Amino acid sequence: MTLRLPDPRMERVLLTESQIDAVVGELADQVAADYSGRDPVLVTVLRGGLFFLSDLCRRIDLPLTVDFMAVTSYGPGAAGSVRITKDLDDPVEGRDVLVVEDIIDTGLTLNYLLRVLRQRRPASLAVCTLLDKDVRRLVDLPIVYRGFSVPDRFLVGYGLDLEGQWRELPYVATLKDEIWERG
Ligand code: 5GP
Repeated sequence: MTLRLPDPRMERVLLTESQIDAVVGELADQVAADYSGRDPVLVTVLRGGLFFLSDLCRRIDLPLTVDFMAVTSYGPGAAGSVRITKDLDDPVEGRDVLVVEDIIDTGLTLNYLLRVLRQRRPASLAVCTLLDKDVRRLVDLPIVYRGFSVPDRFLVGYGLDLEGQWRELPYVATLKDEIWERG
């Protein structure tokens, strides 16, 4: 069945709802096995990570808690800096922290967040990302769980937005090249 895309700026569906669902289930099983006997805190970055976190945590067969951060990035690339606009509600000292991300691109935002979290002395700190734009990576990150490796295209859906829109789509779609040219 071909899905009708809701907007002519979208090119095609890259990952269908059922592909995402299957991988979320696999990641949840791996997390449950690895954290068996512990009660991790799943931390995500608003707003994009919310959708993946919500599906993932409901399929992890373990006691767990969730917490949220929000950040703003200033300036492009490596010269850019990150500011926390919403911090976690609870301390993470001594906790097993799993950072849950929708997508990792250059990795600079997450690298900054991991530095901040490490200073709070968690028992462990690991990363689970649904999408990995690995060709763009500028820094090494402790990514333990990875859903899909994705190409260097601008993606929307399943948490990813274009100017605030389309986060709610159950699939991931690419935009047409003429809509998004990397600067
Ligand atoms: P990084 O610091 O890894 O370069 O940036 C990561 C952030 O950039 C993601 O959390 C996401 O907000 C945004 N981002 C990276 N690639 C895409 C993409 O293809 N589509 C959308 N909508 N956002 C993206």
